[in-house]
Amino acid sequence: MSPPVFRFAPSPNGYLHLGHAFSVLLNFDRAREAGGRFLLRIEDIDPTRCRPEFEMAIYEDLAWLGISWETPVWRQSEHLDAYREALEQLTAQGLLYPSFESRAEIARLIAEREAAGPWPRDPDGAPLYPGAARSLPASERRRLIEAGAPYALRLDMAAARARAKHLTWTEQGEGPAGEHGTVTAWPEAWGDVILARKETPTSYHLSVVVDDALQGVTDVIRGQDLFWSTSVHRLLQELLCIPPSTYRHHRLIRDSAGQKLSKSTKATALRELRAGGATPADIRRLVGPP
Ligand code: GLU
Repeated sequence: MSPPVFRFAPSPNGYLHLGHAFSVLLNFDRAREAGGRFLLRIEDIDPTRCRPEFEMAIYEDLAWLGISWETPVWRQSEHLDAYREALEQLTAQGLLYPSFESRAEIARLIAEREAAGPWPRDPDGAPLYPGAARSLPASERRRLIEAGAPYALRLDMAAARARAKHLTWTEQGEGPAGEHGTVTAWPEAWGDVILARKETPTSYHLSVVVDDALQGVTDVIRGQDLFWSTSVHRLLQELLCIPPSTYRHHRLIRDSAGQKLSKSTKATALRELRAGGATPADIRRLVGPP
C-alpha cells in the first residue's frame, strides 16, 4: 500500500500565527507517525492579497518550527491550467454560468432582499448570491462576454446537486457542533458558489479539490473553520470523479478574548513570538496537545 499523504496549505497573505503552527504540527507529526509523506502547498491564487515576502516568511517560519517538506513546493499560481481543465469539465456538464454583477450590485441586491425579510447566509455568515444570472438568456450572456464584460463563474447548485444526491464524508476530527464519523454534506448551504473569479480563473474551493487530487492527498487535516467547506469539496469531487480524502478538522486556537486568530494580529504571529525569544518547544506548549 502506498503511504498516506498529508499537506499544509497556507495562503501567503499574512504572517503565520499560532493557529497555523497547530495545524502544520498536527499534519507533520501525523505524517511521521504514519510513515507518510508531508507536502506544503502555497495557496497564492489571490493576486490582490498574496505577496512574495509572506511566502518567504512561510518557509522561514516553518523551517524554524522544525518542519521539513518535499520539494518542489506546489504553488497554485503555477497550476492554473489544471483548474481551467476542471472548469471545462463542469462547463461540459452544463453546471456553470457566468455572473456579471459587480460587488456593489450584489450588495445592493442583498440589501433589497434583507429589507423584505431574512435572507439566507452561508456557513461563514456571508449572504447567499441574490442574483438571477443563472436565468440570463444565452444570447445576452454571449453579448456581454463579447463586449468584454468581466464575470465570475458560479456553480448551478441545484443542477449539481441533482447529479450527486447522497454525499457524505468521513470525519476523524470534529465539526463545530461535535460532528464526527460519517457526516452528511450540505453544499446547498453555500448557494451558487463562485468557482472562478473575475480577477483569477479559479477559487479556493475549486483549486483545493483539484490540488488535493493531483497531489494524491489522502488525509486532510485543517481547522474547524473549514469544516462546512468540505460539503462543497465533496460535491466537486463527485462531479469531477475524484475519490475523497478523509478529513480531520481540528479545534481553533483562540486569543484571550476567545476570538479566532487573525493574520493581522502581531501578538500571535510566529515571527513576533520568535523575536521575543520563544523556542519551537514553547510554540508546541502554547498550542497545546492535539
Ligand atoms: N489556504 C487555506 C487557508 O489558509 C487552507 C486550505 C485547506 O487546508 O483546505 O485557510
